[in-house]
Parts: sequence; C-alpha cells; structure tokens
Amino acid sequence: MNTKTGDEDQGVIEKEDLNPAHISDIQFDKAIRYMDHLQHGLIDFLKSPKRTLSVCFPVMLDDGSVKTFHGFRTVHSRVMGPGKGGIRYHPEVNKEEVKSLAALMTWKCALADVPFGGAKGGVICDPKSLSQDELRRITRRFVTELKDDIGPYIDIPAPDMYTNQQTMAWIYDTYDIMHPGKNNHPVVTGKPVDLGGSLGRDKATGQGVFYTTERFLAKAELPKLPSIREARLAIQGFGNVGAAVARLFSDAGAKVIAVSDSTGGICVDNDDALDIETVLEYKKTNGTVVGLPETRTITNEDLLEIECDILIPAALENVIRIDNADKIRARLIVEAANGPVTPSADEVLFSKGIPVVPDILANAGGVIVSFFEWVQNIKHEQWELEEVDRSLRAKMNHSVDQVMMKWHQLNNSHDESHDTDQNPEEKLPPADLRTAALFLAIERLANVTLERGIWP
Ligand code: NAD
Repeated sequence: MNTKTGDEDQGVIEKEDLNPAHISDIQFDKAIRYMDHLQHGLIDFLKSPKRTLSVCFPVMLDDGSVKTFHGFRTVHSRVMGPGKGGIRYHPEVNKEEVKSLAALMTWKCALADVPFGGAKGGVICDPKSLSQDELRRITRRFVTELKDDIGPYIDIPAPDMYTNQQTMAWIYDTYDIMHPGKNNHPVVTGKPVDLGGSLGRDKATGQGVFYTTERFLAKAELPKLPSIREARLAIQGFGNVGAAVARLFSDAGAKVIAVSDSTGGICVDNDDALDIETVLEYKKTNGTVVGLPETRTITNEDLLEIECDILIPAALENVIRIDNADKIRARLIVEAANGPVTPSADEVLFSKGIPVVPDILANAGGVIVSFFEWVQNIKHEQWELEEVDRSLRAKMNHSVDQVMMKWHQLNNSHDESHDTDQNPEEKLPPADLRTAALFLAIERLANVTLERGIWP
C-alpha cells in the first residue's frame, strides 16, 4: 500500500493511499486473514455496500440566489436490521467516503450488538458559510429527495460532523409531514430531548470513549498507565465528541493538556491542565479555542505529536498517517473520530507498542444510545439519564471484554503456530485490536447472514 517515490538520494518520500474505500478494504482483508472458517462466497457481499443513492437539488440562498447541492446516502448492510448512521455536512463529503463510513457503521453496530445495519450520508456544503435558514432548507430538501429510503424500520439517520440536534429536528419534522398519522419519532436519532431525543445522547459518544478507555486500562495493564486518573490527555477536535471527552476525562481527574479545533490548538506546559469549562466558554464566545489566555498556540500537527499518555483524535479521518505515525509520543490512542489512523500508521504504531483502541469499539457510544432512543420512541418512553448511562456502560464494557478476549485468542494461536514447523510464509503476524474487533463484527454478520438463509 505504501509506495516510495522520488530519488532515493534526495530522501524517501512515502506516499500513502488515503482513498477511504481502499482503507476499509485493507482493514477488512487484514481481519479475514485470521478467519479460516469464513465462507469465501460471502466475502464480496459482506464488503460491498447494498446501495448508494446520489441526489442533486437546488436551494434558494438568503440573498435570493440559487445554488445546487449534491448529497449521498449509502446503506452498507441491512442484515442485522435497518440502516443506521450519521449525516455529515462538509465541503469534502464524497461518495467514496460515505460508502466507507457506512461500512464502518455496519461493523460498529455488529460489534456493539445493536440490531442495525450500517449506513451513512452527507451533503457537500460548507456549513460555516451557511445561515440557519439555509441549513434548514438544505436539510428539508435533502430529506425530501431521500423520500422513503429513510424510515424507522428502513434507515435511520443521526448527527455527524456539522450536523446536530437541530438538524435532526428538521429531519423528523420533514419526514413527519411526508408521513402523517404515524409515530415517526424513531425515523431519526439525536433529536432534542423534548422531541423524543434520549437523555445522554448529546454526550453519548464521548461517554462511550470514556467507558471504553476506563475498561481497556483496567484490562490491558499498560505499564505507566494504570488508570484515567492523572493521565495526561491530548484531544484533537473540540466539537460534540471532543468537548464531551475533554469534560468527562477532566471530571474523572485526568489532565487535559492540549485541545484543538479546525483553527488550531492550544496546550499548557508541564504539570498544568486546561480548565475545560473555561475552554468551552472561550470557544463559545470566540468561535475558536486558539488564543485562550495562559495557553500556548500549537498546530493540529503539533497536537498529535505531543508527549502525553492518551491521544484522542476526535475530528477528521486520516490524521495519523505513515508520515507522522513515527512521531507519535502517546502511550495509548483512542479513536473517538471515525478512521483517524490509516492502515500504514496502524503498523508503525503496533511496532512501537502503542495500542490503538479502534473507532468501531471506542466511539460506539453514539450509536448505542441512538439505539436506546429508538427503543424509547417505539415504546413511548423516556428513560432517566442514570439508566441510559448504566446501560451504555454495560454494553461498552461487554464489547471491550470481547475484543480483548479475541485479541488474546488470535495472538495466542499465533504464538502456538510459532512452535510448529509451519512454513514461515504462511504465518500470520500478531493481530492488533482493530483486527480483533473487526474479526468479531465480520463473524457476527456472516453468521446472521447464513442463519437468515441465502435468498431464495
Ligand atoms: P463536530 O462537527 O461536532 O466537531 C468536529 C470538530 O473537529 C470541531 O471542533 C472542528 O473544529 C474540528 N475540526 C474540523 N476540521 C478539523 C481539522 N482539519 N483539524 C482539526 N480539527 C478539525 O463533529 P463530531 O460529532 O464531534 O464528530 C467528530 C468525529 O467523531 C467525526 O469523525 C465523527 O464521524 C465521529 N463520530 C461522531 C459521533 C457523534 O455522535 N457525533 C459518533 C461517532 C463518531
């Protein structure tokens, strides 16, 4: 996957394939190398998206001009249940990215054992340059274009980058107008609480990252990193997920030493820690974390390379790549964002002994509480926050335990194979946590596909 280009004498430039669909395939292919028992005829089916819808629609902007927008919705799998996945508004949304994020949702739902398949959607737009009225018109028109391709038992959207509770409220309202006389609340999750949203959904992904890290540290016995308390954290991204992560870890006694957003980052030196409420307040007033008094300004690249205990990428994909993986000085990486570490970086980090808790495990809190919201909507219930958090912790702990068990199994069988006189060419390398997590998810999906019976 890595190619060396340029003249060797002038230094080696590494080029990495960052195509999101190729990355999903590489991760999938790596995991199935450990699955001798997988029906080969199923592989292409498990990998390929079921369908992708591309839409194109005009929207009138506030100044009276008309602009054309392009959007996508991919359902990767419906084997476990209706499609489930966020809708992203970003200038760099593209079909390949949406497809690979939908596949990631399939594995995330299967691993978390929630009865959903994977889906994802997005609209190519720059939400920062659009007014609330314009965003509402884009959302309503996008939902109208999706028509009956979304629905409470078909495909259920949720928030993702630059979409939020308000966007979900517009989605619900538009769908409800199109389908009068039904309980349409379960068509979308991440809604405002008084519109059928679940308590705890706003912080659920961050809360899940917290529970995962806590459980992982309790099980993994990392030298010099016994628990979250006193751990020094760097967090990239200070939006829905990053800000919740910062607050939760800080409340638990960790020291958040650096945070960033799209405009850059800030850090404190030595034994200091950022006061997260002050950072939140500053960001609310100034629209950026940069410039907070008594902090040093750093770039997003610097943040990733800072010396710390736990690095939490909570913004974009592909930020830890072949060109900076070797410079990472964290003891542990927990993927709050989707796809922040590339396959080549995975290998570098593995060889450096830096565990990466993968996205499909670490950031599943959002989809798990979305599942709770969907159940509450169907049953016309509202659960207490304590019940939501307790149920989320139980699910996250169970997933971490399963992944750790599978990881040990894969690596023990690898050690045993060393004792045999097996052809060294056929020996599998030690598995990382992502491979163990994907192994479980793919195995579940394959089993359920066969249990349901191949049609006809
Ligand atoms: P968000 O829009 O609320 O926040 C994104 C943050 O990333 C912002 O602080 C933004 O300034 C920052 N950012 C944007 N471009 C950046 C750049 N180039 N460099 C550094 N920072 C940059 O989005 P979110 O909901 O917090 O999602 C963040 C990540 O978590 C995404 O990868 C998303 O797919 C993933 N995720 C979100 C959820 C959820 O429930 N919201 C669930 C699972 C995974």
